Formats: sequence, C-alpha cells, structure tokens
Amino acid sequence: MEPEPRRPLLLVADDEPVNLKLLVDGLRNDFRIRIATDGESALAIASDEEPPDLILLDVMMPRIDGYEVCRLLKQQESTRDIPVIFVTGVSDEEGETHGLELGAVDYITKPINLRITRARVLTHLKLRQAQAHLAQLSQIDGLTTIANRRRFDEALGIEWRRNLRMCTSLALLMADIDYFKQYNDLHGHLAGDDCLKRVAIAFTAAMRRPTDLTARYGGEEFVALLGDTDIDGALRVADAMRRKVEQLMIPHGGSSHPCVTVSCGIAVAVPSDDSSPEDLVMRADRKLYEAKAAGRNRIAQ
Ligand code: GH3
Ligand code: MG
Ligand code: MG
Repeated sequence: MEPEPRRPLLLVADDEPVNLKLLVDGLRNDFRIRIATDGESALAIASDEEPPDLILLDVMMPRIDGYEVCRLLKQQESTRDIPVIFVTGVSDEEGETHGLELGAVDYITKPINLRITRARVLTHLKLRQAQAHLAQLSQIDGLTTIANRRRFDEALGIEWRRNLRMCTSLALLMADIDYFKQYNDLHGHLAGDDCLKRVAIAFTAAMRRPTDLTARYGGEEFVALLGDTDIDGALRVADAMRRKVEQLMIPHGGSSHPCVTVSCGIAVAVPSDDSSPEDLVMRADRKLYEAKAAGRNRIAQ
C-alpha cells in the first residue's frame, strides 16, 4: 500500500487563545498544526528542523508583532520562502498594504471565516508547491536528470566562497566523451542519448561524498565539483569516473578503443581573492584538451 502523503504543516501564531482554538479546531482535519502564542516562539518554530509549509500570523502580538516576525522571516534564507498569511483584527488599508509589502502572500481579517481561510491556505500551498517544483526542474538536465549547467554555476560560486573562507582546496574535473560525434554517426542519435544517460549514472556513482556534485556541462561534457579536495583526492575520483565509463563496455565502432571512453582534465586551487572560479574552469578545460591530445581515455592534471 502507498504510504499516505504527509499532510501539510501549518504554524498558527496568535496571542489570543480563543483565536488559536478556533483556527486549530477548524483546520486540524486537513493539516498538521503547530501553535505559537508570541512572536519569539513563532520565529523559533519557523526555523525548526521541519519548517512549516505555511504560517498564519496574527498582526497584534506583544513584544514582537506580526509585521516584525514577517520581516525577520523574510531576512533569513531558511525561512524566506515560507508563505505568510496575516490574520488581523483591524481591517485597514494601511496595515494590509504594509503586510503585503513585507512579503506576505495574503491578508485575512477577523472575524475568521474558516472556509475562506482553508481555501486561501490551500491555494497558497499549491502555488508554493508548483514554485518549488519549477525551481527544482530549472536545476536539472532534462536528458540525464543529473544537475545541469545552471546548478553547477551556482554550486561553483558557493563552493568557491566556502573554500575561500576555510582555506581549503577546491577541485574541478571536466570530462568529455571520446569520439562522440562518430558514436552518433555510427550508432544513431537515440543510442547517443542513451549513452549520455549511462555515462551520467556512472559519474554519479564515482562521487564519494554527499557534497560532491556532478553535472552535465553541455553536449557530451560533464563536470564534477569536489569541495575540500586536494590533487590526490581529485585524481582518485577522476580515475573512478574514467574506469566506471570504461566498465560500462558500450561498444563504439568509431573509436581507437572498442568501447566508449572519456577523457578528463583536473584543476585544483585554494581559492583566493586574486583568482576566480572562471580561472578554475578554464584550467580544467585546458587539461581536458591535453588529455585528448595525449591519446584520450586518460586524465591530465
Ligand atoms: P573528442 O574525442 O575530441 O571529444 O571528439 P568528439 O567527437 O566527442 O567531439 P565533438 O565536440 O566533435 O562532438 C561532440 C558530439 O556530441 C557532437 C554532437 O552530435 C554530440 N552531442 C552533443 N550533445 C548531444 C546530445 O544531447 N545527444 C546526442 N546524441 N549527441 C550529442
Ligand atoms: Mg567528445
Ligand atoms: Mg566536446
């Protein structure tokens, strides 16, 4: 039997027990609910290990009011994307404008109509889900389903800065299928596509740490980004990538080798302020060219 999908988690923040009870009683059949009776605990729950999928936020609360809670949520990376709906006792244009300008998705005025509240919550949950799905798709290569160039570029920037802070070395591997044009010409474009998918799986299997990222860079070129990795580690991973493709034993009629192979260029650097991530990509690319020129199915460092 399929496990039941988990019901969405709502955070309801209100300092009035009567309001809390009304919302919780009315929504508990459709959602899992956590409650907060002040701004501080609302913020704490929002940053919890399982963050809420949506927050119903009272405006008038002692100490930290709803507007301030919303402002702080939007400032913090981990809570920024949680949709916030303000629930307020005073319906005034100024307050509603202020709430929406702070980044809330909606504004509900008391007395609470439970059916309207539930409908709006469901709408915003659906929108948020669709948005998250699109964001994920925009990072994935459609053919191989591994990370795409966009995701790699983002990860490279992040890893560069992280390794700069930690004074650790960052390794970039650039791998390219040998004689792939001939492969397509001889075996057909569909077989070519299939070969790319299998190479992507082989490269993914060659990664050792959860933080290692392999991505399709374009065409039949792939990259692997390895944080906190020196040249020895990079060589080991590159060799695993090369061997795993060789072991696929995909027959190649137009290569100097009987099966599909890859060549790989390695660049390693401790990031500094007078070098850039683009330099690293350029160096790996140059090394890849050397591996090709030296006879293919090999690694250059
Ligand atoms: P080298 O050994 O020097 O790398 O030679 P090569 O033939 O692999 O390199 P070249 O850059 O000349 O050709 C790359 C080929 O990759 C050309 C193109 O048809 C093929 N290719 C690129 N993207 C795809 C794709 O998505 N699917 C398929 N089937 N082929 C692709
Ligand atoms: Mg090639
Ligand atoms: Mg190429």
